[in-house]
Amino acid sequence: MTPQGEPVLKLFKQTGAYLQGHFRLSSGLHSSGYLQSALVLQYPQYAERLGEDLASALLTLTKGETPGLVISPALGGLIVGHEVARAFGVRFLFTERDADRKMSLRRGFSLSPGERVIVIEDVITTGGSTREVIDVVQAAGATAFAAGSIIDRSGGAVELGIPRVALETLTVPVYQPDECPLCLKGEPVTKPGSRPV
Ligand code: ZN
Repeated sequence: MTPQGEPVLKLFKQTGAYLQGHFRLSSGLHSSGYLQSALVLQYPQYAERLGEDLASALLTLTKGETPGLVISPALGGLIVGHEVARAFGVRFLFTERDADRKMSLRRGFSLSPGERVIVIEDVITTGGSTREVIDVVQAAGATAFAAGSIIDRSGGAVELGIPRVALETLTVPVYQPDECPLCLKGEPVTKPGSRPV
């Protein structure tokens, strides 16, 4: 837990966003803990503050480089990514899955070759979504030079190949579905995220 992150976890607990139970995460892994950031971000004043704190942490991480734009994976990254973009005074784009489940830029969004981009997610578990967004950015000839999330629940283990920062770092164990102790106990699994089960 980072010293500056402590109030962030408190905010998640206060708003009921830190759930305990048996969950299937968007990565497909199972866990006894789930961070439902939508419950924090339903309060615009908290969303704004988290966006400002992330922008400030990113400026420290990148030694002061303001991005050309901010980009996030839908749906989870939408609100916080938008608030980070607002704090930087730059535009905000999001990626979403196409019919083949491939992460892509739609709705007429475009990136120009050479643009320097920061990728924002709400919660990093495996880093899978952020990696997919980085791939979309690189395929457009732009550069993702840093990434950020409100919470890193991998205990700092996720490596993206670019500098990364989180306001709060937690270690919440995750399990492959066939090795999940909660499944072995016969506890029903719930799917609190946004992707279809
Ligand atoms: Zn399970």
